[in-house]
Amino acid sequence: MKIQFLGAAGEVTGSRHSVEALVGGREVRFMVDFGMFQGGREATAKNLEPLPFPPKEIDFVVLTHAHIDHSGLLPRLCAQGFAGPIYCTDATFELLKIMLPDSAHLQRSDVERAERRQKAGKWHGELPVALYSMEETELALGQCEILPYGKTLELGKGINLEFQNAGHILGSAIAVIDVAEDHAKKKRCVFSGDIGMKGKLLMPDPTRIEQADVVVVESTYGDRLHKTLADTESELIDVVTSTLSAHGNIVIPAFAVGRTQEILFLLIDLVRRNLLPHLSIWVDSPMATAATHLTQHFFSQLDKESQSTFEWFKRNPGAVDLSFIADVEESKALNKIKGGAIIISASGMCDAGRIVHHLQNNLPRAQNAIVITGFQAYGSLGRRLVDKAAKVRLFGEEVAVRASIHTIGGLSAHADQAGLLDWLRGFKSAPQSVFVVHGEPEASAVLAQSIREELEWKNVIIPERLHTYTC
Ligand SMILES: [Zn+2]
Repeated sequence: MKIQFLGAAGEVTGSRHSVEALVGGREVRFMVDFGMFQGGREATAKNLEPLPFPPKEIDFVVLTHAHIDHSGLLPRLCAQGFAGPIYCTDATFELLKIMLPDSAHLQRSDVERAERRQKAGKWHGELPVALYSMEETELALGQCEILPYGKTLELGKGINLEFQNAGHILGSAIAVIDVAEDHAKKKRCVFSGDIGMKGKLLMPDPTRIEQADVVVVESTYGDRLHKTLADTESELIDVVTSTLSAHGNIVIPAFAVGRTQEILFLLIDLVRRNLLPHLSIWVDSPMATAATHLTQHFFSQLDKESQSTFEWFKRNPGAVDLSFIADVEESKALNKIKGGAIIISASGMCDAGRIVHHLQNNLPRAQNAIVITGFQAYGSLGRRLVDKAAKVRLFGEEVAVRASIHTIGGLSAHADQAGLLDWLRGFKSAPQSVFVVHGEPEASAVLAQSIREELEWKNVIIPERLHTYTC
């Protein structure tokens, strides 16, 4: 069997791994994930790079979860001739219906904005490229086939697929793939996808798998430990309590899928435990609203504590005033609220979307607080706020930063080093090969070394992009 790593090798985005095996007298080729590279010019070049084999030679795709860095190039793959099934869980499919069209829309807007600026003589250099159209996202959605957690699917003779819960975001799965190659012993390959933190809000703990011959494991936080949830809670309680008693607003930029629901859940849970008073919360992002409704729809897939908090909220709807903003006019009306509001909006890094006008409105007043809950990439507006910029430029205007800026760690969707090692300890014996992917070089190297030292597994490899490994 051969595995080729086409992305997320030495970096965190562009997850896509190709597996090739001789089964039942013919070469079978499948992909695990087909994600987009994100961030910078190099990413665009990699997204446009042709595959080393014709897309129509791929028999099927196994999709671990809906995040764009795992799913975002599927429409392009289908448009280029891949006609086989894309296997995913039910919740992943529902999230894809929101996220792929949104991705196509964002790409189109980027191109149109650049073209306008070019016409005005303000854009120099290469124009951005839309990787696929809205119609092509329909093509990919039409090829999705749903496989529930824990059910084994026979993919023709000799290959079986099963999904187990990865506890990362709604629908996220660990892919367990058994391959009975001709003239070889049957092999079990386990692809971790992205692994959630044990004890994380909303999602159940990642399922441990007991046996594998080949393991491909993520390493986003392979070199660090997260803050505890208890620390995160007390930081949030402090900011919310002090801001509300000073009659200020709290603005929380958050990724629409995952983080928004975690924050909402945490705030409601803190009210339930009498650690926060009655709250007025506005969720102002159409995608976050859709993702929150999906989370409610897939209630049975959440962890037990979160289910009981939601049930409490249903019985006590007055404990938190929760409003979902539908249109732009309603969103603008929020500008009139001068104190006592919690506004959760996207994008998570403050670069686009409705969050920008909430910042424009709330940054200049000292009694307000901005609560940053996620990773802020270098160069983003969120990062400038974290780095204590005294003023920022929004919609072409200079805005003074007088609101207090708070960074609350500990809400990561990914397991930390201890969490990853804990998940790996679930394997009863050392796999033949372990590939460490989906991490910055330092994070992958530190995790690989701790697997060698703490688990005493010998064959731990950090694969190079585009290299093929025989297992
Ligand atoms: Zn992910």
